[in-house]
Parts: sequence; C-alpha cells; structure tokens
Amino acid sequence: MDEQTADELEATTLALKQLGLNSGATVVGVAAASAFNEYVPEGHRPSDFMPGAKSVVVAGSLGPSNAAWQSPNRRLMEITGYDFRENVASLVMAEHIETVHGYQAMQAPALPTSGQHPPMSMMLAAVLAGLGTRSIAANIILHPTYGLLYYAAAITTMPLVPDHQLEDNVCPARSCVKMYELEGKTPCMAVCPADDGGCIDATIDDGEITSSYFNRERCSTRAMNFGIRGHIKQVELLTAADDIDEAKAVLYSDDFRRNLSSVGRYKESVAQCFECMRVCPVGRYRRKLK
Ligand code: SF4
Ligand code: SF4
Repeated sequence: MDEQTADELEATTLALKQLGLNSGATVVGVAAASAFNEYVPEGHRPSDFMPGAKSVVVAGSLGPSNAAWQSPNRRLMEITGYDFRENVASLVMAEHIETVHGYQAMQAPALPTSGQHPPMSMMLAAVLAGLGTRSIAANIILHPTYGLLYYAAAITTMPLVPDHQLEDNVCPARSCVKMYELEGKTPCMAVCPADDGGCIDATIDDGEITSSYFNRERCSTRAMNFGIRGHIKQVELLTAADDIDEAKAVLYSDDFRRNLSSVGRYKESVAQCFECMRVCPVGRYRRKLK
C-alpha cells in the first residue's frame, strides 16, 4: 500500500469522520491505538484484539431526543429513544476501511463478556479521541457541547490522524462550581448525595475536581434493573417459588416481561435513572425547544 502524505492522511481521516456522521453518529473522533497502553493493562488494549492496530475511530450519538428528556413522565426515558446509531456508524466506518482502503477494521468489543467490565472501555476511547472528559456524575463522559453521549468504536490497522484529548475538563461546569461554593454541592451531588442514600460525592477546589466518589454498586441497583442481570434475578425468584401460583406471579409480572423485552431487543435495558444527567447543565441548553 502506498504511503500517504500528511495532507492525504488528513483528508482520509476527515472523509472517514464524515462517513461516520452521515451514518448516524453525532460526533466522531480518532485515538491512536497505542494511547490506550498508558491507561489500561494488557488484555484491554486495541492491539489485544487486533495485532498491529494503529487507530481507534470513536463514534458518539445522542440517546433519547431532547423532548424525551423533558417529558413529565420520568419513565419514558426507560423505554424509548435508544437505537444504537453509534454502533451502526462504527460498523459502517469499519466496513469502509476494509473495502475502500484495504486495511483491517472491526468494531471494538464494548459489552462485558463477564462481570461488569467490558473488554475495551468506550469511556476511555471517547476521552482519548478528544470527545469528552469524565464527570463527577457516575464518571459519565461529558462532551462539551452535547453532554451525555453513547459511544462505540472501530479498531483498525489503518493509520489516521489522531485527535488531541480535551485540554479543559468539561466537568464541573461553571454554574456547578458557583453552586458548590455556595452550597457545598453541585446539581448531580444534590440529586444523588452519597451521604444521604445516593451515589455521588466530590470536592472541588479552584474550579477543579480534587476528589470524587461514585457508589457504582448502589447506582446499578437503581439504574440497571432490566436486562441480563435483571433477568437472572427473575429466574432466581422463579426457581425459588414454592408453588405454581407463586411461580405464575413471577412469570406474569411486569418485571418479568420487561426483562425479557430488554434481553430480546436490548432496548429497555439502557437505564432506569437519568437524574444526575437530567440536572447537569452541560448540553442542557440544547434541550430547550419550542
Ligand atoms: S444514575 Fe441515578 S442512581 Fe446512578 S448516580 Fe445518577 S442519579 Fe444516582
Ligand atoms: S452537574 Fe455539574 S458537577 Fe455534576 S456532572 Fe454535570 S457538570 Fe459535572
């Protein structure tokens, strides 16, 4: 394969990003595959899945629409608005790399194969690709313009021009720093305080996060009740039932149906709590529509 000039490489990278955007991504960034080495151990790096990997192309997309965020029915967000466009975009870009450019490319493995940890972190991929930074709220990566996005990525042996990591932390937002100075809490800490049954705590000094705490286990019992883990809990209840009436009560319950639906379609399983993001000012101005 011919070596590309720097200008050609830049143009190829831009064209690939545009393809990702045309395929449903809201944002696309590129990280050097080697950039992961500094942050994650062997087994979780792009080169562990694709020897010779050079680049990771990261696609981020919005989940529920702006109106869904504002619905007075809080449960609407549990069951609507998430259609994996970032996955489609990453697959389209991977196919394009293989068919047009002749380099290896594949979707990065982002779903856990055991436990809670995915083989490759899409949160880290997004940070390394300059798309956002970790926040106080559940460590969610916040994009400076859009706030919460959902991420997928493609790993490739193709050299591309990597983006720089963001220089400034998106979190805490300026208004959050002001609130913290006045009340000792930011909006996400106020809505889910670790010292009062919630999951989030942090200290901020001079506008920078100096410590942060997130109770992941507690959060997951509130935000992740449907899906594979929820289904396992239901099966456990079913096998422990004393008689057919008790078993039927489990089988025909709303929880059982929703868990099956989420496992089958992987749609209702995204989250059942968005409160820390609902109050986060980053990207919220975009949700104000007519
Ligand atoms: S998702 Fe809900 S439970 Fe989890 S940290 Fe945010 S507000 Fe708390
Ligand atoms: S509410 Fe403020 S402190 Fe909390 S995640 Fe959003 S920007 Fe960060």
